[in-house]
Amino acid sequence: PPPEKKKAKSKLDQDFRLLGELGRGAFSVVYRARRRDGEPYKLRDVDVSDEVAVKVVILSNMSVRERKTQLRYLNSEIAVMRKVTRHMPQDQHVVHLLESFAETTPKYRVSMVLELCNGGELFDRIVKRSFYTEADAKDVIRKLAKTLDSLHRIGIVHRDLKPENLIYSSAAEDAEIKITDFGLALDMEFPDKDVYRSHVVGTVGYFAPEVMNLRYGPACDVWSLGVITYILLVGYPPFVGRNRMEIQKEIRLGRFEFHMPEWKDISANARDLITRMLAFKPERRVRPRDILAHPWLTDACEHATKPI
Ligand code: ADP
Ligand code: MG
Repeated sequence: PPPEKKKAKSKLDQDFRLLGELGRGAFSVVYRARRRDGEPYKLRDVDVSDEVAVKVVILSNMSVRERKTQLRYLNSEIAVMRKVTRHMPQDQHVVHLLESFAETTPKYRVSMVLELCNGGELFDRIVKRSFYTEADAKDVIRKLAKTLDSLHRIGIVHRDLKPENLIYSSAAEDAEIKITDFGLALDMEFPDKDVYRSHVVGTVGYFAPEVMNLRYGPACDVWSLGVITYILLVGYPPFVGRNRMEIQKEIRLGRFEFHMPEWKDISANARDLITRMLAFKPERRVRPRDILAHPWLTDACEHATKPI
């Protein structure tokens, strides 16, 4: 074929210069990128920095069936991100979607243009610092609970909150933390459109309906936030085991402890709030607005330490 025919036009290649890899997921690669035309995106009526993040999912090399499934997931993710961006344009603690497009040549792929968060994952900051001071943890949890409250109010349940999906806006010490990856999110306004990816999460669907239903409600996000709070304060998770099965067993039993000596110097308020976020029954779990009103986040006194 003539050379101009071989060089098919691709919006991704044509409009963006990819500057390096920011991270990866199961099917995605996220790049730092710059628009070739230098035109800035507008967000909150302000120009976004000329650098963006592009999450690219390649759907070539997939069976037609698998591609169809992946496209449904991607459509759901994009719809949720659009809704979040439209309803919460001012929220500093959620990653906004700037644009999305699909193309079939030269490869079948879907791209999501996102605001750039150059500060790495919360996961890496925990590893680097080993754990957060109580004051720093409070700051993170307050922001996340507030944004979670807003998300739930517009009907969005994230369902995949974890330190890998919480990223910092920049490398600065005072960078903002942001919730990203709405790939498993549910819009409660359209529950029939739910395409929960049980196999990507690792467990094939042998769950009883009521176990699956546990994942539906917004309460599951609070549980995840409870696990994150625990990890922030001591640097290791509340539910441990030698393998996935063992961890799941502990979770199903709702069994966790505040071990000594790690928890000795951590306030009783922190332990109380974590216990309420990890309440076994979703209907008894605190809601995001209860978290914001909890003494751990409202009391001025930082060191209300009491023996366990
Ligand atoms: P997946 O749905 O495949 O898990 P994610 O959306 O979680 O993909 O993105 C994978 C990784 O890419 C994230 O864990 C994060 O490290 C990085 N990443 C995602 N979005 C951004 C962004 N807007 N800015 C910077 N890095 C990002
Ligand atoms: Mg992810």
